[in-house]
Amino acid sequence: MFDRVLDKYALQVELIERDIYRQAGVEVSVLRLDRFCPELSGNKFFKLKYNIKAALEEKSSCLLSFGGAYSNHIHALAYAAKVYQLPVIGVIRGEQHNKLNPTLQDAKDWGMKLHFVSRSDYRRRQELGFLHALEEEFGPFFLIPEGGSNEAAQRGCEELGQWLAKHCADIDSFFLPCATGGTMAGIVAGVDAGQQVNGISVLKGADHLQKDIENLLAEKMASPWKIWHQFHCGGYAKFDVALARFIDGFYQDTGLLIEPVYSGKMFFAIEQLLQQGQLPRGSKILAIHTGGLQGLRGMQSRLAAIQAIA
Ligand SMILES: *Cc1c(COP(=O)(O)O)cnc(C)c1O
Repeated sequence: MFDRVLDKYALQVELIERDIYRQAGVEVSVLRLDRFCPELSGNKFFKLKYNIKAALEEKSSCLLSFGGAYSNHIHALAYAAKVYQLPVIGVIRGEQHNKLNPTLQDAKDWGMKLHFVSRSDYRRRQELGFLHALEEEFGPFFLIPEGGSNEAAQRGCEELGQWLAKHCADIDSFFLPCATGGTMAGIVAGVDAGQQVNGISVLKGADHLQKDIENLLAEKMASPWKIWHQFHCGGYAKFDVALARFIDGFYQDTGLLIEPVYSGKMFFAIEQLLQQGQLPRGSKILAIHTGGLQGLRGMQSRLAAIQAIA
């Protein structure tokens, strides 16, 4: 499937017209991963490619991974497992509600077995004892970590970075939102040495990101990179009036749909960095829209309520 998807959907780069970019003397374009294979949206395609390949090569009978109730990773994994007819278990943080949200309903419809665990149990997801208990309950499984970030994911994202080096050779700096940093590690390894990669952390106080990315990069040659920690707007999946207002204005201005968890924070960060004069005039910037619009479905009422206040 992965090769078929690559044939079917071209990676698209579009220029974004916005007064603030013009005034700052920069050119900003966007890589539309949000348009790339709707069911396996965005960066998750690249993160899952070699994980699924490894599971097939090991002839694994079942996949297992972790995520929150709106997780793009869980959503994409459920779809990939369906295509390859691999049984899959999603260990979901928090209690099961009577009605599944659209993310989990899709996952279930595609055949994923949903296993809900308390927040305290979920925190133990990397402990061997906890994983053994899961194995006793469900039998052996091929483990994909939360968010899908491991060496296989890094490899898939490195291919995306290589594509960028080839097709976006004139770009000075790339921007992308970061949670676990797996996507960033791949892109840093893939793009050209003269191109800078900027990650916007969507988590509050994610001091471990630096080390996590260094570990994923291991001995690889890497382009210069930097994580920005001050644009999380309160923490993971949290948003404030300023961000909600920005997302609304950005959409009215450009017609480009972004969401508050990842892409919204990245574009908002670029705007603030421009206002602070931190991005040199004449720069060519490429923002990676990592997708994740499926998660908006369960979030729209919260966002609309805040936008109404704004
Ligand atoms: C998962 C996800 C990310 C974060 O990717 P990491 O590799 O964990 O940093 C960014 N954007 C979207 C839309 C995602 O779904």
